[in-house]
Amino acid sequence: MRAVSPQTPRVVVIGAGTMGAGIAQASALAGLPTVLHDVDAAILAGGLERARAQMDEGVRRGKVTPQARQTAAACLTSSATLAEAVRGAGVVIEAVPEKLELKRRIFSELGRLAPAPAVLATNTSSLSIASIAAAAASPERVIGLHFFNPPHIMKLLEIVVAPATSPETLRRCRDLAASMGKEAIVVRDSPGFASSRLGLALGLEAMRMVEQEVASAADIDRAMELGYGHPMGPLKVSDLVGLDVRLSIAEILHRELGAEQFRPPEILRRLVAEGKLGRKTGQGFHSWDPSSSSR
Ligand code: NAD
Repeated sequence: MRAVSPQTPRVVVIGAGTMGAGIAQASALAGLPTVLHDVDAAILAGGLERARAQMDEGVRRGKVTPQARQTAAACLTSSATLAEAVRGAGVVIEAVPEKLELKRRIFSELGRLAPAPAVLATNTSSLSIASIAAAAASPERVIGLHFFNPPHIMKLLEIVVAPATSPETLRRCRDLAASMGKEAIVVRDSPGFASSRLGLALGLEAMRMVEQEVASAADIDRAMELGYGHPMGPLKVSDLVGLDVRLSIAEILHRELGAEQFRPPEILRRLVAEGKLGRKTGQGFHSWDPSSSSR
């Protein structure tokens, strides 16, 4: 954890939902001055509260020192307006819903409002960074910073570089990853980046194997957990991500890569049509206890 000084870059997180609140929490815990912003005041307050409650839980479980918690509390603030939030920003991380037009609108505003040297990053898991960057006045500052859920726990930060992204923008993101204690990988802007493309290929093949009655969902997951040391099998991962989310990413990758392995299996379409979306609805490839927590 670093001490807060006037030189420490200010991290601004746009969107206080599942990912935004978690990214802000991870950033504040790293001792970086962090501002969280959302268009919805109630969600913004809820996001801050969740971040603080999880930090308290971290202290109770001995994962966070009381001193780090105290510093993080001083680092984490919120702002109700975008213009005020981005004042003095070093890095802006957008985490609003996965809709291209919404993200493009925000990046167009950020191009106008954020101070000139600020890095403008998106946490998108599937959209093209280049098409988001094209909406900003200075696309060389735009980059993908793909955090994983939950952001305060998951070590991986997938940095996605678009054709216009400058080496300086990439360097500053590598520094940010190191400050936040993340392991960065660098990936060219292509459909599904590295993590979604590989994870989905495995997940869709596992679904086809259920469809073809090769083995039960539980046994297919066990094959990867015990045989390959994956912490969680591909069907459990799909249930956790949400089968609707997996389906929409599969449709994008099938269309954009033109590769048959990304054609959504019928069983996936059927489960989504039946409202069996995985853990969030209690049923997917597995049955889930709504009160259970995976981590
Ligand atoms: P979410 O729906 O939980 O949160 C999005 C938030 O953005 C909401 O609170 C909403 O009020 C806010 N918002 C909407 N319009 C806004 C605007 N104009 N300005 C400011 N705030 C606005 O979504 P999420 O699950 O946190 O996903 C956010 C992004 O992160 C998406 O691009 C998603 O693909 C990506 N992502 C999600 C996960 C995941 O597991 N959920 C993992 C990795 C990446």
